Amino acid sequence: MARIAYVNGRYRPLRDACVNVEDRGYQFSDGVYEVCEVRGGRLIDQRRHLQRLLRSLGELQIRLPMSLPALGMVLRETVARNRVQDGIVYLQITRGVARRDFSFPAADTPPSVVVTARSLDPAANEKIASSGIEVVTVPDNRWGRVDIKTVSLLPNVLAKQAAREQGAREAWFVDRDGRITEGSSSNAWIVTGEGKVVTRPADHAILRGITRTVLLDAISAQELTLEERSFTVEEAYAAREAFLTSASQIVMPVVRIDSKPIGNGAPGLVAAALRREFHRFAEQL
Ligand code: PLP
Repeated sequence: MARIAYVNGRYRPLRDACVNVEDRGYQFSDGVYEVCEVRGGRLIDQRRHLQRLLRSLGELQIRLPMSLPALGMVLRETVARNRVQDGIVYLQITRGVARRDFSFPAADTPPSVVVTARSLDPAANEKIASSGIEVVTVPDNRWGRVDIKTVSLLPNVLAKQAAREQGAREAWFVDRDGRITEGSSSNAWIVTGEGKVVTRPADHAILRGITRTVLLDAISAQELTLEERSFTVEEAYAAREAFLTSASQIVMPVVRIDSKPIGNGAPGLVAAALRREFHRFAEQL
């Protein structure tokens, strides 16, 4: 079945869908995005994703091109037209099309909106989760506002490629103090020897993941002890468990960091339990 994309008011076959070469997303990465999980044909945590989108747009002074309910309808329609049962829906909004000039274009320039959706194989994801993944650490060389979900992702692209070249599936960024910030497309977590679940506070150094936010509820329901604080690479090597979170991977056990086995080198019990429980705490539309 041919995939369909929504581009500025029209649903078009993906292979013909295109944006103007002077779109500021293409010229300057001047735009924001969201990725929502689709499960059983339903969008997971759409409300929270759209709230974060509003915040990202506000921080960059890009106007919301249509109401949030209308945007929600476009997301659901794109999922339906692509017959996605399990997968992701991607939404991107840029500052629109204008003659190439660094400063903002005229205030009435319409933002560009693109939505795509694609299927992912849940069984394949489960298989990966059952053996866990390897991550490598890389210096965090990103700008100071990674709390905004912008399409400006070059350091993340290079980090993920570095991971792939070392046979790992994710890279964890490390700040100047030797503390892990987050993954190239995920948030980072460890479980200490005493069983405390640790993740970095959502300040300007990480993206406040929606999966991360929902997982905080699951952690408190399981009566686990949470510590929102930064942790060092050495602490991660010595952890009992490690895992990452994102809308497309939910809770993914990490079994090796920089080739060092974490705990006994197999997915941990806490990560497995949180992965099982996650959708009880997420909103489904
Ligand atoms: N951190 C970064 C840098 C990301 O790109 C992502 C997701 O793409 C996340 C964290 C996880 O966010 P979410 O759970 O909302 O998918």
